[in-house]
Amino acid sequence: MRSLSVLGATGSVGASTLDLVRREPEAWRLVALTAHSNATELARLALEFSAEIAVVADEARLPELREALAGTGIATAGGPAALVEAAARGADVTVAAIVGCAGLAPTMAAIEQGGVIALANKEALVSAGEVMTAAVARHGATLLPVDSEHNAIFQCLQGNNTAHVRWITLTASGGPFRDWSWEQLSAATPAQAIKHPNWDMGAKISVDSATMFNKGLELIEAHHLFPVGLDRLRIIVHPQSIVHSMVEYRDGSTLAQLGPSDMRVPIASALAYPERMDTPCAPLDLAAIGELTFRTPDEDRFPATRLAREAAQAGGAIPAVLNAANEVAVAAFLAGQISFTRIAAQVEDVLNAYMPVAPACLSDVLAVDGEARERARQLMEAA
Ligand code: NAD
Ligand code: MG
Repeated sequence: MRSLSVLGATGSVGASTLDLVRREPEAWRLVALTAHSNATELARLALEFSAEIAVVADEARLPELREALAGTGIATAGGPAALVEAAARGADVTVAAIVGCAGLAPTMAAIEQGGVIALANKEALVSAGEVMTAAVARHGATLLPVDSEHNAIFQCLQGNNTAHVRWITLTASGGPFRDWSWEQLSAATPAQAIKHPNWDMGAKISVDSATMFNKGLELIEAHHLFPVGLDRLRIIVHPQSIVHSMVEYRDGSTLAQLGPSDMRVPIASALAYPERMDTPCAPLDLAAIGELTFRTPDEDRFPATRLAREAAQAGGAIPAVLNAANEVAVAAFLAGQISFTRIAAQVEDVLNAYMPVAPACLSDVLAVDGEARERARQLMEAA
């Protein structure tokens, strides 16, 4: 039996993780389950999985959580500091599935305990970069990518020497707007943006898929997870989302990982690593799918991947600024305050506005994130 914590248990990745755990109850002992504000759902999950502790990040929801779990023996806590404390209880495996830089501090707390970190929360790695990878090395933690592309690349690198890698190719679905004109993009609504053709995901990552910021963040994520050099990382649009990514070696061999567009596959790969476990996903039926197609991304309509590549090249605090500016812009778009095409434009404006110094520790990263958010809001108000 292995112990498990799920940070962001009420989200899309959290639900997929718990669906796998539900099928193997004898294999897992739940430590911490966390959520932002849905205390009712969190309490339900904590009871079902007999978690040690349930933590709600929004402290105003703690009374509700307490009441729902009264007399069950399950501990409850609320607020961002409690989230970090719960992650610091340590577990054999921690699934980092909070969305955004809000997941960084608890993920770092889990890393400091030295277990396996199954990382879905790409924004945390994008923002912290070397601060996180250094902590992983220092504490002897194991960072396993859950993001489907990175999980695919991780699998394609097994048993190979990264010195022989010619290219790592991240596939991108292109999102719901991949064939839209600039005029159409300018008028795209939040409801259209969160309706992804292949994947069922949270609202923020769905908008990121539509802008291609998701792929931009993933480029930076790959740069930290697989340090083969930025010039060896590239992106290809693959609308069917069946080939999850590829690694080409110097001899001309390309290894790819294929699977259904279901996050339970990469999550299972990380949960069971280095073993394998069953998933309820239907086997891949390539004959039914028929065609796998590929095309070059269009960075004129979707500038996000260019901005992310430039941010990765600049390094230091710049990826954290890019991420924070994008989080603010996506929230503003979802709230109906800015247009779809303003998301990338606004991120670029924030990147051009100032040059923070490279962070050396977690609190530096959080300070960069906070200032970038403030700058993004100021620019938005001035516009
Ligand atoms: P989601 O919105 O469905 O869930 C997010 C979870 O984080 C929820 O449990 C929510 O309560 C919690 N949360 C949100 N804000 C918080 C805050 N301020 N403090 C504490 N907790 C907070 O998101 P998701 O789609 O599950 O994505 C989670 C992460 O996984 C993201 O980083 C995303 O990019 C990544 N990811 C998701 C998918 C997917 O298919 N959904 C695929 C690859 C990577
Ligand atoms: Mg992905």
